[in-house]
Amino acid sequence: MSQRKPLIAGNWKMNLNHLEAIALVQKLAFALNDKDFDRVEVAVLPPFTDIRSVQTLVDGDKLRIVYGAQDLSQYDGGAYTGEVSGVMLAKLGCTYVTVGHSERRQYHGEDDEVVNAKVLAAFRHSITPILCVGEGLAVRQEGQHIAYSVAQLDGALRKVTAEQAQSVVVAYEPVWAIGTGEVATPEDAQEVCGALRERLAELYTPEVASAVRILYGGSVKSGNIAGIMAKPDVDGALVGGASIDAGEFAKICRFWE
Ligand code: PEP
Repeated sequence: MSQRKPLIAGNWKMNLNHLEAIALVQKLAFALNDKDFDRVEVAVLPPFTDIRSVQTLVDGDKLRIVYGAQDLSQYDGGAYTGEVSGVMLAKLGCTYVTVGHSERRQYHGEDDEVVNAKVLAAFRHSITPILCVGEGLAVRQEGQHIAYSVAQLDGALRKVTAEQAQSVVVAYEPVWAIGTGEVATPEDAQEVCGALRERLAELYTPEVASAVRILYGGSVKSGNIAGIMAKPDVDGALVGGASIDAGEFAKICRFWE
């Protein structure tokens, strides 16, 4: 069984300017210690406008917090007004980038083809995609949540090699649980995360499947993280709202306490 280091990633969404970003990362670094970082990888995903400031702080103070972006262009450069490329994010030292977040799929019309192109763009620049999949309420009520999430996984991983796939991070984020306060039960999370891992074994190999970290996301808080992390196929969390409160996010990162 592969030793998967848990990952807790904070998706700040469209919150915090670059000065607020610095303050939050400083508080987070103060709240966590080396022993914590030995047990868990902690990532922040600020808006594009904050990344350079976060980079300067992380590099200058040699922090063990890693960072990334919330989206990237499928293209590497050119006449794409308003877009930010993987080339630019790599230059800023981004470790991660979320791809296929439900808010991008919903408000920006990103379909599986675009998500796949963005996953490939991230890999082209050695940035690890945090690939978000997950069903809406109607799909869950029809009992199709596993098939739906697995189909999104299949769509996003087209032309992704086994070597690339073993480093991908998958985030199962049921849309009905995002920002709603309605958290999936640990059993719900395990059911889909387990199915996603089985699918990875079919698409690639059992070794690849057992190397991939699969996160749960959707109204994670310090009060519910422990139960979710106790499940065998859940390797961490993608945290939205609770990640812009340094104290609360630090508690989530120390999920074992
Ligand atoms: C998210 O945006 O990925 C998310 C999980 O949000 P929240 O934690 O606020 O539900």
